[in-house]
Amino acid sequence: MADADLRQYGRWRTGGRARLVVEPGSVGGVRATLAYLAGTDLPRLVVGDGSNILFDDRGFDGVLVRIGPRLSALRLNAPYVTAEAGIWVPRFVRLLGQRGLKGLEHAIGIPGTLGGLVMMNGGSRRQGVGSSTVEVRGCDMNGVPFARSQADCAFRYRGSTLQDDGLIVLEADFRFETAEPGPMRRDMISIMVERRRKFPKSQPNCGSVFLSDPRMYKVVGPPGAAIERAGLKGRRIGGAQSSPLHANFIVNLGDARSADILSLIHLIRTTVHDQTGFWMDAEVRHIAPNGTVRPAHEAAAEHALLTA
Ligand SMILES: Cc1cc2nc3c(=O)[nH]c(=O)nc-3n(C[C@H](O)[C@H](O)[C@H](O)COP(=O)(O)OP(=O)(O)OC[C@H]3O[C@@H](n4cnc5c(N)ncnc54)[C@H](O)[C@@H]3O)c2cc1C
Repeated sequence: MADADLRQYGRWRTGGRARLVVEPGSVGGVRATLAYLAGTDLPRLVVGDGSNILFDDRGFDGVLVRIGPRLSALRLNAPYVTAEAGIWVPRFVRLLGQRGLKGLEHAIGIPGTLGGLVMMNGGSRRQGVGSSTVEVRGCDMNGVPFARSQADCAFRYRGSTLQDDGLIVLEADFRFETAEPGPMRRDMISIMVERRRKFPKSQPNCGSVFLSDPRMYKVVGPPGAAIERAGLKGRRIGGAQSSPLHANFIVNLGDARSADILSLIHLIRTTVHDQTGFWMDAEVRHIAPNGTVRPAHEAAAEHALLTA
């Protein structure tokens, strides 16, 4: 789609327009698209469900390659599973549960694609998808294919070498435990109930904005507690608000601009630093109009300088 409204592609529902959005229907199609774009001077960017990105109000002057439901094939050979990157994580986890394949229940409430989850070793309850991952296949931004074993991916807390090297995940092999589906289903329901109680659901958001840092955790606690202690829970800038339900979530009250979200991120980060001495880094990534992707706190600091 040409001249696409980015609000459809990011879960904060903010941002300007993209020159073009394409959604290839096969692994080969993604590689061919990226290889073609590498020969042009257009910026290119691969996204999944947009549950961890902040588009810019000025838009994205390039081609957004979306990996979504068109790329969600699965092959099961218990306890091994091969899945394409576009499958929606809650759907994948439910399918595993129905077949008694255990290990990814912690991710049941994460509303993104499997590719985005694998790239940053996402998960919850201090777990990550990397521990069940056997091999990841994909390509670089020029469409050149790669395959990396679990060891080569070097999964760490919310990161991996896939992320460090800017690689695109197209499919992955996993190995799970086998278990009774009944108790697994009950576990997943209790995780969902807890998440619904703790996290805002109806207002657009991108989950936790700031990463937990083990050193800070020991002294101050998790980011949500630090933000609350800094008196910023519920704080609003324009249409963006630190959620009264969970301070580390920033919600769009309806008319937020990305600039409001950036201003709030900067206010929270600098205030918590003044009070605790710790800098919190953002998990959420900002997409600049030229396609530069960086942690949102970096874009927020620049935005604060430019608007001071
Ligand atoms: C309500 C809510 C709750 C959340 N809870 C959690 C949680 O408990 N734990 C957690 O870890 N995360 C959580 N998240 C964040 C988010 O859902 C995950 O990080 C998710 O894995 C991102 O996937 P995505 O497809 O939405 O990626 P996007 O937001 O589309 O992209 C995020 C980054 O990944 C890159 N990317 C996307 N797809 C690929 C791919 N196939 N290959 C390589 N790079 C790619 C993009 O370029 C971008 O830099 C939550 C988000 C929300 C909205």
